[in-house]
Amino acid sequence: MINPHPGLPELEYVKPASLSEACAFLAEHDGKAKPFAGGTDSFVRLRDGVLKLDYLVDIKGLEGTKELSFDSKKGLTIGAAVTMNQVAKHPDVIQHYPNLVQAANTVASYQLRNRATIIGNICNASPAGDTIGTCMILDGVLNIKGTEGERTIPLNAFFLAPGRTVLKAGEVVTSITLPPPPAGMVGVYKKLGRNQMSDLSIVGVAVLGYPSAKSPSGYAFRIALASVAPVPMEALKAEAILSEKKITAETIADAAVAAMDAVTPIDDVRGSARYRKLMVRNLTREALTEVWAKLSN
Ligand SMILES: Cc1cc2nc3c(=O)[nH]c(=O)nc-3n(C[C@H](O)[C@H](O)[C@H](O)COP(=O)(O)OP(=O)(O)OC[C@H]3O[C@@H](n4cnc5c(N)ncnc54)[C@H](O)[C@@H]3O)c2cc1C
Repeated sequence: MINPHPGLPELEYVKPASLSEACAFLAEHDGKAKPFAGGTDSFVRLRDGVLKLDYLVDIKGLEGTKELSFDSKKGLTIGAAVTMNQVAKHPDVIQHYPNLVQAANTVASYQLRNRATIIGNICNASPAGDTIGTCMILDGVLNIKGTEGERTIPLNAFFLAPGRTVLKAGEVVTSITLPPPPAGMVGVYKKLGRNQMSDLSIVGVAVLGYPSAKSPSGYAFRIALASVAPVPMEALKAEAILSEKKITAETIADAAVAAMDAVTPIDDVRGSARYRKLMVRNLTREALTEVWAKLSN
């Protein structure tokens, strides 16, 4: 019988001394080298032959990649080598971004989260990435270094297609910055998987809301959806409904339907497109109801 998982192919492990060296190496070996942090996506894909590389470039420990800091003006900075468990247990994250703690804790198992990083979750660019939506509606901005210098990209402009991002050859994401959360923010992440542990989402719904003098309803809501489109997406029409109309159970139901109408899921082993659509409606309604109950208290 043929072993479907024969093990890792031979490749070279590269440990650069600096980010500049990492970027130069990646640019020089474009298509044959990739950076990695936890390796929880990379090694599985290499083992399965989905990813073929000659070099894996370890970015852990390079300057700034272990930073995890909060500043009341700048917000939260999460370096590329910071693991999900480090994020989830950090007192400032627990205090200011509890919705990110909740989203991170839905990823696989505690053991996996000891390796897996938020930046790896983002750069893997899977529509199912559980922490992406929350980072997106918190207005996350990626800090990127390449051979030509540094640049920043808002997370909502980062994804092109499943597994594809706007990163250019030789570019590495060094960290993500989440601005200070809006005053009075309440957020939740709802994940539907095939089991309670260690499965990718069939549907993921990240919601946050906060009082807003700019909205006719008096509140602003943000809604991001996972596993229901080629890239993680925000349900803009649903957000507009909640901004414009007085928040009632009916408004929430209308917004949940608008979220459902915005998605373009596929059928796969985890669920049919139709099931996913209906679950977007149900989970969005559930998440909004939960957020609203706390906001209006
Ligand atoms: C058993 C199992 C269960 C899982 N369950 C879940 C789950 O429930 N939810 C979920 O969302 N994910 C899940 N995953 C996927 C994975 O664990 C996460 O996506 C994780 O966050 C990836 O982080 P990492 O640091 O391990 O990434 P890595 O494997 O190191 O990298 C992932 C990708 O990002 C690129 N990359 C990494 N860092 C950078 C950087 N700094 N700059 C540019 N590119 C970079 C790599 O080249 C690679 O393409 C699971 C994986 C396994 C093996």
